[in-house]
Amino acid sequence: MKLVLASNNDKKLKELDAILAPLGWELVPQGRLGVPEAEEPHCTFVENALAKARHAARLTGLPALADDSGLCVDAFGGAPGVQSARYAGEPRSDARNNQKLLAELGANRQRSARFVSVIVLVRHADDPQPIIAEGEWEGEILPAGRGDDGFGYDPVFYLRDLDQTAAELDAAEKNRRSHRGQALARLVERLRSRR
Ligand code: IMP
Repeated sequence: MKLVLASNNDKKLKELDAILAPLGWELVPQGRLGVPEAEEPHCTFVENALAKARHAARLTGLPALADDSGLCVDAFGGAPGVQSARYAGEPRSDARNNQKLLAELGANRQRSARFVSVIVLVRHADDPQPIIAEGEWEGEILPAGRGDDGFGYDPVFYLRDLDQTAAELDAAEKNRRSHRGQALARLVERLRSRR
């Protein structure tokens, strides 16, 4: 089955493709089909993911998969949340986002945070029954980054049980544990049980 992916993030594409390709799904990034990025005006992940999936399905006529994800920091009441990609403004920069996060958190002792991913699959733009799956990954924000793999906030996202940051995990291990991996596993389960 061919699915349009409502994202142009290459690293996300790789993470999702590693899980979906073995199931026989071909993911085509929307940019390759000439679809411009959708607006993400909402304050919840689920609303933005739905908006992105509908937009891609409407413009391509294909079923569409969208992920909206971000980092929710408890000391900031859940921010940067849906603003994670552009936390330090435009143009988007992982390095500047991480710098801003560490500066604003400073010496705060409350460092708990979680990555959240909501994945939505619509069979067509007006699908009244989208499949919606969510995953969360608990961690802590380190005072300085560690590791070279991954993307976004991975270098500052510390996993106490592993004594590693998300940027120190290999891709397969990250996929097994991550918010996106969990959301995708739930999505696949829901798809399998759908008639
Ligand atoms: P989205 O593309 O609108 O979903 O924005 C997601 C943003 O959240 C990314 O640009 C990253 O800043 C952050 N993010 C989401 N998932 C991850 C992850 O697995 N690792 C690190 N940062 C992430």
